[in-house]
Amino acid sequence: MRVVITGGAGFLGSHLCDFLIGKGWDVLCLDNLITGAESNIAHLRQHPSFRVQPQDVSQHIEVAGAVDAVLHFASPASPPDYLKFPIQTLKVGALGTHNALGLAMAKKARFLLASTSECYGDPEVNPQPESYWGHVNPIGPRGVYDEAKRFAEAITMAYHRYHGVDTRIVRIFNTYGPRMRLNDGRALPNFLYQALAGEPITVYGDGKQTRSFCYVSDLIEGIYKLLESGEHEPVNIGNPREITILEFAERVRAVAGADVPIVFRPLPQDDPKQRCPDITKARRILHWEPKVDLEEGLRRTYEFFRKQMASAGAKLE
Ligand code: UDP
Repeated sequence: MRVVITGGAGFLGSHLCDFLIGKGWDVLCLDNLITGAESNIAHLRQHPSFRVQPQDVSQHIEVAGAVDAVLHFASPASPPDYLKFPIQTLKVGALGTHNALGLAMAKKARFLLASTSECYGDPEVNPQPESYWGHVNPIGPRGVYDEAKRFAEAITMAYHRYHGVDTRIVRIFNTYGPRMRLNDGRALPNFLYQALAGEPITVYGDGKQTRSFCYVSDLIEGIYKLLESGEHEPVNIGNPREITILEFAERVRAVAGADVPIVFRPLPQDDPKQRCPDITKARRILHWEPKVDLEEGLRRTYEFFRKQMASAGAKLE
């Protein structure tokens, strides 16, 4: 099996490279490194089953040789990143998905789209089942990501229905683990960085908004099961344990053993008030559910960040 992974040097993309190489697949990683990192794939560089091709997938994609699967994971994915790269975010969700689908069609390969819980926007239904159409502000600051991913789902279904491409769509909920960028601006890297650096932990709003955090190995396993299934409509993959952001901050602080205060900062515009996956469908058709609990996942992630900050010479308490 030979797979093309767009965004293969990103947080999730690089874990997928590892996982599929572990299954004996050949992996071609495409990335332009605007939010991905060379360090995420450095350990694979010498592996005989791994190749990397610098590529902005919003431009036409040319790949030589046979391809069995295309996994489209390229996109800025943290709110500060897509605010910083709004046009690239729109383009990679729209043009990038079109190009990746075109590649899959030309190669008669399976296609899997990394979609997102952001398709549900600021949801008025909790937890969110796949049948919920969402509550999205198209012109707000998050619209560049939400609408690009909604377009990506629409064009994926169109290629499936009209061109017969063998497609999958995974709606990914908040995921965490090693290789998240220390400065990516999301809650977990911010909180861990702050706890490790002895700085106050910044909770936005009153901290009563909720999220549900999935450890990366669980997510990758769910994605693999979806890829191997025959399901063409979207499937939620995430951890259904819902937690307020304030409680999450307290847990991160406890895992890090840090004696730092929690301070409150303004809530960003359109920040969803609640988010929790309904994973009934994944349980039923993929026989999948997450295994790593929050405490264990936080401990593993803390170890990664601690080593990274130590090697970067960052100031530690
Ligand atoms: N958040 C926070 N402090 C931070 C970063 C994020 O309180 O330093 C909040 C953010 O407002 C949101 C939640 O944590 O309510 C999760 O944010 P994240 O950026 O991780 O991803 P999102 O789920 O919003 O896409």
